[in-house]
Amino acid sequence: MTHTPLRILILGGTGEALQLARALEGDARFAPTYSVAGRTQNPRLPDLPCRGGGFGGPDGLAGYLGREAVEVLVDATHPFAARMSTHAVMAAKQTGVALLALRRPAWIPGPEDHWHGVPDMAAAVQALGTRPRRVFLTIGQLELAPFCEAPWHRYIIRSVDLPAVRPPDCLCITERGPFRLEDEQRLLLQHRIDALVTKNSGGEATRAKLEAARMCNVEVIMVDRPWVPPAPAEVPDPKAALDWLGAHYVRSRPTLRGV
Ligand code: NAP
Repeated sequence: MTHTPLRILILGGTGEALQLARALEGDARFAPTYSVAGRTQNPRLPDLPCRGGGFGGPDGLAGYLGREAVEVLVDATHPFAARMSTHAVMAAKQTGVALLALRRPAWIPGPEDHWHGVPDMAAAVQALGTRPRRVFLTIGQLELAPFCEAPWHRYIIRSVDLPAVRPPDCLCITERGPFRLEDEQRLLLQHRIDALVTKNSGGEATRAKLEAARMCNVEVIMVDRPWVPPAPAEVPDPKAALDWLGAHYVRSRPTLRGV
């Protein structure tokens, strides 16, 4: 007996989302669609049906889930994409669609790390102080406006695309991770960086900068994650997500269980 594939919507845009999507390619148990916000110029996409752009809030997402007969919604967005994650929880509740959140663990400082934790970008600017400093900003391209208010620092900004809004006289490096420890060290030394501002994104792809900062004695200003509502099921990595989807497929196809 053949079984219909499980219709999945992956809210993507992260390395982990892409890894999961690629693991689903060609797997007859699953019929996934991959969704991105549509703000990155050349997003990395899997070989799956893809869509881009917002849904129009939680109601819009709920409408999409219904229209497309989605059975599982996978929230694999960035830990700072709090609005999208909140909408996913709301739309899943509204429609009864199963929700799996792929939430990569936050970075935790080791005994030799002395991070300065701040709640948001405005507080990160405050933490830099009034003395001119050489600052490495790895916070993406969307939230640089607060740093324009402190133009006495020299900013080296690394992001996937060139930021539209950025402080005067900054140096922009457009690059996508993963990044290696020796390259991160070289960058910190070459630009004589004395402070690193980063979001607590977690994950391996961009972790090396933290070790490099420790080795080069660079202060780390760590922007804490925003709060997101808990999802009914949460896993820390793509492998666990794949296992969960496999188990859900069996649970949701009674004939597979001989029922
Ligand atoms: P957000 O503020 O949570 O999302 C804003 C809106 O964008 C959502 O309400 C939704 O629009 C749309 N959206 C977001 N992710 C989507 C997806 N996968 N598919 C379809 N629509 C999506 O998130 P953000 O604006 O993307 O980013 C917020 C923070 O996360 C920033 O700091 C950014 O640097 C960081 N970040 C995000 C991503 C990502 O892929 N989302 C990747 C790297 C870093 P509707 O309400 O209209 O549905």
